[in-house]
Amino acid sequence: MSIRFDNRVAIVTGGGAGLGRSHALGLAARGAKVVVNDLGASVDGSGASESAAERVVEEIRAAGGEAMAHGADVSNEEQVADMVARARDTWGRVDIVVNNAGILRDKSFGKMTMADFRKVVDVHLIGSATVTHACWPLMREQQYGRIVLTSSSSGLYGNFGQANYGAAKAAMMGLMNVLHLEGARDNIRVNTLAPTAATRMTESLMPEDALALLQPETITPGLLYLVSEDAPSRVILGAGAGAFAVTKVYETLGATLTGEELTAEGVAAAFGRISDPEGQEELTQAFAQTQKYARNAAEARGLK
Ligand code: NAD
Repeated sequence: MSIRFDNRVAIVTGGGAGLGRSHALGLAARGAKVVVNDLGASVDGSGASESAAERVVEEIRAAGGEAMAHGADVSNEEQVADMVARARDTWGRVDIVVNNAGILRDKSFGKMTMADFRKVVDVHLIGSATVTHACWPLMREQQYGRIVLTSSSSGLYGNFGQANYGAAKAAMMGLMNVLHLEGARDNIRVNTLAPTAATRMTESLMPEDALALLQPETITPGLLYLVSEDAPSRVILGAGAGAFAVTKVYETLGATLTGEELTAEGVAAAFGRISDPEGQEELTQAFAQTQKYARNAAEARGLK
């Protein structure tokens, strides 16, 4: 089985460096026409330069592929609309969106300004929503779309000093869950990548030998699978150094309290049962939780 992207058009945000560059090169090498988007910002999101995206476009063209650069700030609706219009005018469609652009403004929560919190949420969450929203009508019309959001272990599990980044990255899961449900009938599949890679974002945080193993090219195969014709949907794929794993959210069976037990003390006393992982399950949409609780409550009260 070979995965190809011939006649597919992809937008890769933050495609001028690190992981985005690797994803853009990987897509183009397998036949996709690629919009390499990059604001050319520094790691903290300041500054701008068109040259990062241009360089990657040159690399793609030199290898015989098709690409165009676009310097849109992903959190700017007008600039994003212009990028999507250009992709459509040039190539007629947008099949794949890789939301990858990102910045860091790390500080412990007490020292973090709300401006730094907002900026990080703006680029990661609002940026991903803005680019995806601009492509959504096109994908529905085409009855085809493959979307990847980029999360992080910081968002899924927490990391000291990254309240802004962790919150924005956890939000990818929420966005994915809803877009997965809304996109299914139009053949739009939505997944999340949680990478760990040696890039300028992490080069000062890890030792040399770890950085050597964690090259972005070890992650791109996972991304290519997530945006392929036969892609799954609603998967959170962890990736780094050739290792891949899936993150899932489970809910325990829990306990239903009634009468005297339905007090704060009752919850405290039952907490072992409430949190017991035996029989835990993955719920597939919000209402499944309400149904489960209502069913259990009716049973506990002998109504069923
Ligand atoms: P990077 O800094 O090398 O690349 C990010 C790119 O995004 C840069 O080229 C930057 O110019 C661009 N960018 C920043 N703000 C932008 C904006 N508003 N609009 C358009 N482009 C913008 O970082 P990277 O390590 O390759 O990170 C890529 C993604 O992966 C990010 O979302 C990051 O949070 C995520 N991630 C990275 C790691 C890691 O270990 N490197 C771990 C978890 C998640």
